Amino acid sequence: MKDGYGRNISYLRLSVTDLCNLRCRYCMPEEGVCKLAHDRLLTEDEMVTAVRAAAGLGITKVRITGGEPLVKPNILSICRRVAAVEGIAETDLTTNATRLPAMAQALREAGIRRVNISLDTLNAEKYAFITRRGVLAEAMEGIRAALAAGFDKVKINAVLIGGFNEDEVPALAELTRRWPVDMRFIELMPMPGDTLFGEQAYIPADRVLDMLPEAAPAAEHDGVARLYRLPGAMGNIGLISPLSSHFCGECNRLRLTADGHLKPCLHSREEICIKGLDEAGMTQAMREAIRMKPRQHDPLSRGEPSRAARQMNQIGG
Ligand code: SAM
Ligand code: SF4
Repeated sequence: MKDGYGRNISYLRLSVTDLCNLRCRYCMPEEGVCKLAHDRLLTEDEMVTAVRAAAGLGITKVRITGGEPLVKPNILSICRRVAAVEGIAETDLTTNATRLPAMAQALREAGIRRVNISLDTLNAEKYAFITRRGVLAEAMEGIRAALAAGFDKVKINAVLIGGFNEDEVPALAELTRRWPVDMRFIELMPMPGDTLFGEQAYIPADRVLDMLPEAAPAAEHDGVARLYRLPGAMGNIGLISPLSSHFCGECNRLRLTADGHLKPCLHSREEICIKGLDEAGMTQAMREAIRMKPRQHDPLSRGEPSRAARQMNQIGG
């Protein structure tokens, strides 16, 4: 379905939980989030109904996210049922990878096509710092498991944080020569109530190119990412710049939170609740959410954080 600005909305990001086994500093408070009462969350059946409604409106791609989707006990069943919905051509997953060693193969068999993995650093101490509790070796093992499981594509995403991992850009980019992965650098987005990072943390993704003199523009296109490639690499380098050059003109997505709220835009307060509706009701609500999509969100900067009114783990980044 087209929105009011002629954009074809073909992509649903489905958050299956706002819980996580990590506590990344830019995403989630240290104490975690209070566990939502079970009856406020979408049930598995409601998620599948929502995907069916979305498919009826022309959505062909679903990305399952969270929180950490792999902490959801029924995640395999959700993946299998979403991937089987008629009209859904591609079902992908975003994860911190720490549970992939045990689950990658089963996720592949459940119909997951592509996996995005979050990894901000290759240094074990820094990984423990930024995730507040993560073990780097588990995430690295998860990447290897994803590669062994034979997904169509594995992408690694690092949030660029000045003064934290800027100096690791060359080493992270080098992963594209070691493995058949894309390595994407994402500008840190200022979220509501965010006081952890100083001005120097917000650096434009273009700075990555200064650190990778060998990188040349790549032939392929990847939605919101600008792509480059190192000589001899098996995957691309991607730059995702929500702050320095926002990509609202190409936005083709709708988001559904774990507690059943449709978000027409990641950075706006507008939400429509679909919890408890039948498929016809969900279809109607999705039409309305697509119609409500703004032309673009307000500019983001440290002084003007996202108006999302939720943390990223509660939206599904
Ligand atoms: N737990 C999974 C993971 O970490 O990949 C999926 C959910 S997480 C919210 C999705 C993505 O959002 C991650 O790549 C994470 O780095 C990104 N993210 C979270 N907070 C962010 C922020 N303030 N700025 C930029 N990216 C952010
Ligand atoms: Fe968890 Fe992902 Fe947020 Fe990190 S970025 S706290 S892994 S949801």
